[in-house]
Amino acid sequence: MYFDPVEALERDALAQLQTDRLRATVERAAKSPFYAKRLAEAGLSAASVTSPEDIRKFPLTGKDDLRSNYPYGFLTCDRRELVRLHASSGTTGNPTAVLYTRKDLDQWAALVARCMYSVGMRKGDVFQNIAGYGLFTGGLGIHYGAEWLGCLTIPAGAGNTKRQIKLIQDFEVTALHIIPSYALYFGSVLEKEGIRPEDFPPRIALIGAEPHTDEARKRIEQLLGLRAFNSYGLSEMNGPGVAFECTEQSGMHIWEDAYIVEVIDPVTLEPVPEGQVGELVLTTLTREGMPIIRYRTRDLTRLLPGQCACGRTHRRIDRISGRADDMLIIKGVNIYPMQVEQVLMTMPEVGQNYLIIIEREGYLDQLRIKVEIQDEYFVEDMRGLRSLQEKIAHKLHDEILITPRVDLVQRGTLPQSEGKAKRVVDARETN
Ligand code: AMP
Ligand code: ZN
Repeated sequence: MYFDPVEALERDALAQLQTDRLRATVERAAKSPFYAKRLAEAGLSAASVTSPEDIRKFPLTGKDDLRSNYPYGFLTCDRRELVRLHASSGTTGNPTAVLYTRKDLDQWAALVARCMYSVGMRKGDVFQNIAGYGLFTGGLGIHYGAEWLGCLTIPAGAGNTKRQIKLIQDFEVTALHIIPSYALYFGSVLEKEGIRPEDFPPRIALIGAEPHTDEARKRIEQLLGLRAFNSYGLSEMNGPGVAFECTEQSGMHIWEDAYIVEVIDPVTLEPVPEGQVGELVLTTLTREGMPIIRYRTRDLTRLLPGQCACGRTHRRIDRISGRADDMLIIKGVNIYPMQVEQVLMTMPEVGQNYLIIIEREGYLDQLRIKVEIQDEYFVEDMRGLRSLQEKIAHKLHDEILITPRVDLVQRGTLPQSEGKAKRVVDARETN
């Protein structure tokens, strides 16, 4: 029923496992130049750990720590033990490098395979990885997970949608990994090619690597004729395979035998009560080359209360609602890009792509939203378009409390990324 019996381990046994592994992690981390100093300064060692809650005694680790100790400051072993390097996409500042030993890679592949199994993939599935290979962990990380599970794995990479479709049809691909914004675009190409969702072979898509709403997921499911499951991870914690939806599609199980999960208030740094949104903080429990203790992900989410119907005992997090550093403040109002997506993706007139632009007019910041419109609504009736524009602006106002300017554009005219989408453009400097 499960890929690994640990998925349904009783909570008491899981706590014991976490305690043992946290102790081992602290001992191991102390071998790295960074943690040797950090732990000694705080007077902490493996002996400080008697329960998973003791994690709170430890100082947080931030992206700046990784940057300023680049490239080998977090390494706990001889460099000759290393077999792989990945780096974060680094949307803000320099990338951070993550180093893996052989054992790290095997453990990571097993975690990814576990995620795939939990959404119904099995040995014998034909799996196409439509993600950029290279430093991005969504390429090789997902790839080796699928091979670990025993799937015929096609390293298609990102882009060239028509060739992707041909591979999918010729090899009768049953499961895909694809970034959500590209999946939406992929859906519009299928439409254009006259391929009906029910004739599109895959039955499962793993979607992740960037924030997306449940509304976008539903659209992807309809457009591609499959079920789409949320896949969460970050390079600093290996990459994909940290948290994953099961077939219940009600939150992502975070693998607590491999990570300790905390949700904190990003300002006070105190834990927030279960169910409340805060910043996700993660600790690796099985990493050898580069263990990381209490990593501030900057990702905002909440721990979901209660048990999942699937029987797995590992707690669930809600979909990522944004990044702490993604928040826009326009006319004094806090806005997250995902609030905009949530509104747009429920409107049948709206196509698969949009762009949020921040502009400055005099001393005031303004929001402009470019929205691709479905072909059948893109008619030459000015009045019809004007009223659609108003309808979108009105619906957005209900959600974000300010009225943005809305530009309607034709399908395919907004920049389409094959990797993580750039949803927000700050045009203030260029005005
Ligand atoms: P990278 O390490 O460059 O692959 O980027 C990791 C970041 O991508 C995470 O910290 C999140 O901000 C984002 N991310 C990854 N998976 C998801 C997901 N399923 N939903 C929302 N954001 C995600
Ligand atoms: Zn579940």
